[in-house]
Amino acid sequence: MAVLEKFDVTIIGGGLLGTTISYWLSSLYDIKIAVVEKESDVGMHTSSRNTGVVHSPFYLNPDKKAKLAKAAFLSHDMWKTFAEKRGLPWNVVGTIEVALDDIQHKILEKYMAWGPKNGMSEKDMTLLDGDEIAKKEPNIQCHSAIHCKTDAVVDYGKYTKSLKEESQKNGTKFLLDHKLESVENLDDCPVLGFSNKEKLNTKLVINCAGGYSLDVAKKFGLATEYSSLHFRGEYWIAREQYTNLVKTNVYSVPKYPDFPFLDPHWIIRSDGKSEVGPNAVPVASPETYSGYVGDIETFISKLADVVTGSTRKLLLNAEFMNLIAKEWLSSLSKVVMIERVQKFMPKIKPDFFSERGTAGIRTPIITPQGQFLPDVLELEGKTSYHILNYNSPGATGAPAYSAYVVKALQEKGFLQYKTRKTDSIWNFDLL
Ligand SMILES: Cc1cc2nc3c(=O)[nH]c(=O)nc-3n(C[C@H](O)[C@H](O)[C@H](O)COP(=O)(O)OP(=O)(O)OC[C@H]3O[C@@H](n4cnc5c(N)ncnc54)[C@H](O)[C@@H]3O)c2cc1C
Repeated sequence: MAVLEKFDVTIIGGGLLGTTISYWLSSLYDIKIAVVEKESDVGMHTSSRNTGVVHSPFYLNPDKKAKLAKAAFLSHDMWKTFAEKRGLPWNVVGTIEVALDDIQHKILEKYMAWGPKNGMSEKDMTLLDGDEIAKKEPNIQCHSAIHCKTDAVVDYGKYTKSLKEESQKNGTKFLLDHKLESVENLDDCPVLGFSNKEKLNTKLVINCAGGYSLDVAKKFGLATEYSSLHFRGEYWIAREQYTNLVKTNVYSVPKYPDFPFLDPHWIIRSDGKSEVGPNAVPVASPETYSGYVGDIETFISKLADVVTGSTRKLLLNAEFMNLIAKEWLSSLSKVVMIERVQKFMPKIKPDFFSERGTAGIRTPIITPQGQFLPDVLELEGKTSYHILNYNSPGATGAPAYSAYVVKALQEKGFLQYKTRKTDSIWNFDLL
């Protein structure tokens, strides 16, 4: 039998998370690290197919989303440093989060307390009334809003590719066009088998497979009681003459914070274009970027076919099913999508948008009780560590969150190697 190439650590998935973890590990240790990625380059999925916002975590509940909130706060300045050192776009445009009535205003008041609880400085957020907002941005109409000064817009796909180069300089091997298919020897130096028939041997596996991370965890006999759903977020690009209608991101308070649906927003891209989106249309897989099923009845019955396990319980939730129908309509019809934004930008019209933007897919994990899991889920096997439900604002939080993963692996005794000093972009000891 051929002798297999052996690695100390193998990371499944070359998205922002897997690539950033490889960067930290390779700058801290002189060990053999592989990142296996099924595509021909890193960052081909969610890490390139998102809104591109470096979020300040004022809108994240510090009790329910503590890990994502802390990581987002710490990572903001880390990304800024990275962009400066690598000459990548970093454009601070700010965000206006609008409330349309008194009830939503109460939620903004809650956000004003959450921001500082998540580490933000009070001076970076201002609660303004509708008139004050209209003075700032005449094309916004609202009851009140938070103006957050610090949000930036970037191209996370470019950031992922740039981090790959940094990680390669430290010795990480990127095995592209390698789709993980099988795992043997779970308890001692697993053997990973790929669709191209190659195999490798590794002491530790870190699962960062994004929308497929639940499937990978199940190959290791973990997370068997969880299931997942996939929601496609679609965008429409504003024609050039309407790009500057509003010069900042505009989000609205979500009506149902326990569901992963944010009403479509007005967003500024790092290349200066403006878009409306994303909605959240349920689709069959983490990579179904186009296509839907005929009419709403067929669509709902198809949904019942594709969901398994605990997700079935969600289909009995009337509020959830109503939302699904609304999201589905906004996928079929540009008019319906734009109507959702007209609530706070009354001047925009469907013909201001002629081209669809790049869709991306969120894959939230559903608990055994049939509920959306609010925060990241980390699971540990004998020779493996799994990161599931790494959803928005996961791109924002990647630098600090991935350092946190490395610290957790150190504490659990998975990384018993001598550390080394390299010229790292970020300071691990300060996190
Ligand atoms: C519509 C949308 C908008 C968003 N907007 C924002 C935003 O504005 N700001 C923000 O901070 N976050 C945002 N996010 C969230 C953010 O993009 C994600 O949290 C982040 O990109 C996740 O990175 P990842 O590395 O976990 O996943 P991915 O980038 O999906 O990477 C996973 C990788 O694993 C690979 N893979 C999967 N299975 C296998 C296998 N079997 N073998 C080998 N490789 C495999 C895939 O090919 C993929 O490259 C958004 C997400 C969506 C969907």
